[in-house]
Amino acid sequence: MKPLLILGTGLAGYTLAREFRKLDQTRPLVLVTADDGSAYAKPNLSNALATDRSAEALVQSDAAGMATQLQARVLTRYRVIAINTEARQVHVAPIDDLRDDIREDIREDIRQGTQKDAACATHAPVEIIDYAQLVLALGAEPLRLPIAGNAADHIRSVNDLEDYRAFRDALSRCTAPARVAILGGGLIGCEFANDLAIAGHAVQVIDIAPQALGRLLPSDLPGAVRGPAQALQQALQQTGVQWHLGRSLKTIQHSATASTLELQLDNGDSLEADLVLSAVGLAPRTALAASAGLQIGRGIVTNQCLQTSARHVYALGDCAEVNGMLLPYVMPIMHGARALAATLASYQDTNDSVQAQSVHYPPMPVSVKTPALPITVCSPAMGSAGAWVAASTANADTNAIEAHFLSPEGKLLGFALTGTACSRRSALVRALVLLPGDALSSSDVRSGCSGPG
Ligand SMILES: Cc1cc2nc3c(=O)[nH]c(=O)nc-3n(C[C@H](O)[C@H](O)[C@H](O)COP(=O)(O)OP(=O)(O)OC[C@H]3O[C@@H](n4cnc5c(N)ncnc54)[C@H](O)[C@@H]3O)c2cc1C
Repeated sequence: MKPLLILGTGLAGYTLAREFRKLDQTRPLVLVTADDGSAYAKPNLSNALATDRSAEALVQSDAAGMATQLQARVLTRYRVIAINTEARQVHVAPIDDLRDDIREDIREDIRQGTQKDAACATHAPVEIIDYAQLVLALGAEPLRLPIAGNAADHIRSVNDLEDYRAFRDALSRCTAPARVAILGGGLIGCEFANDLAIAGHAVQVIDIAPQALGRLLPSDLPGAVRGPAQALQQALQQTGVQWHLGRSLKTIQHSATASTLELQLDNGDSLEADLVLSAVGLAPRTALAASAGLQIGRGIVTNQCLQTSARHVYALGDCAEVNGMLLPYVMPIMHGARALAATLASYQDTNDSVQAQSVHYPPMPVSVKTPALPITVCSPAMGSAGAWVAASTANADTNAIEAHFLSPEGKLLGFALTGTACSRRSALVRALVLLPGDALSSSDVRSGCSGPG
């Protein structure tokens, strides 16, 4: 019996493996990962500094523990070299057995999400794994801004446990409090700003947008003195965070003593920092899939059943573009994993076919982990007609704001809550009206998908 092969052991890879094992205890299961295969909750990376948790403390299980739990073979520190969807084979090589220079090339390749060059294959002890079904759960890569200056390569990002370990080590080498400049005031930037501020560091946030959480929260809230974004900015400011909104970073240089980083903004302002953390967004890892001939859009393109354009190949998590949507959050992975596990478990060797199961996404509000001012937001579907209005606004004593996104007919399509108003989350989820045809709509549940899988 050929195995189910999952590439990636992040939240998507391991959640899918668990869901699959609930339905099928006999099919061989193989997982391949470039990292050490530790199971951890990635959202903890942006709220672990305040409680001084080490990378090790965030690990829920090591790869050996996961292999036992899942009755699986888990290949850690393996690089996927190539996928042959015709032969249904994946070529992998252990990163640690490679020559040092090639290993570094491969690590850089993985960081950049680019495909290996031919040298990697020729110098590596390549193993070929046959599969019955293949799942790409390769995650996403932090975007890198093209910043000028001799310290540009000192800009860090934290997108996995290894990054977190390195960032925490770097913080511990700074004279306390460390001066940290964060590029990006989105969800991850704001969470790190709050976490670092609680941990006692001096934080500055630079964002080209005029407000925090620009992609999630309304820029204007008619009827309110201030909107949720302004309330968050103020709350973080009270913890010591300094904002540079509507600004971009132009250059980053080492100071004369090389101990400080000097940042110049587009308006000529300069800042000094010990560390610079970039949180400007993620790009799905698509290079491997592209080189295997799969259809790529903004991510690895799948239908509502998470089937890619190649037969018996699926994609889940941050690398996937499901029905035209990138959904780089935990809840879509949980829902996707359940549906995909059902599809995979229905596989019949005799006729090489599956009963494809469509993924059903209910409304999935996102909680922003900013203890200075907790935020819950459920964005309206992309392109929805309507406007944000204030349902209740903060008064002098409370930071509780409730904002609704209403259709022209007055139907609730989305909401944003701050502070104690976050307790209204469940009630508003129940009140949401989902439009037919909306990819996140509960009315879009289908029993099957047309596709190559
Ligand atoms: C700091 C931070 C905080 C977050 N907070 C929240 C939150 O509060 N709520 C929320 O809903 N979401 C949050 N998210 C998003 C959420 O954590 C992600 O959507 C989710 O963890 C992605 O899981 P994944 O398995 O798709 O990707 P990943 O966890 O990145 O896993 C990718 C896997 O692919 C492997 N891989 C990649 N390339 C190769 C290769 N060539 N060969 C072999 N293996 C390879 C990697 O080693 C890894 O095992 C946060 C994200 C970050 C970074």
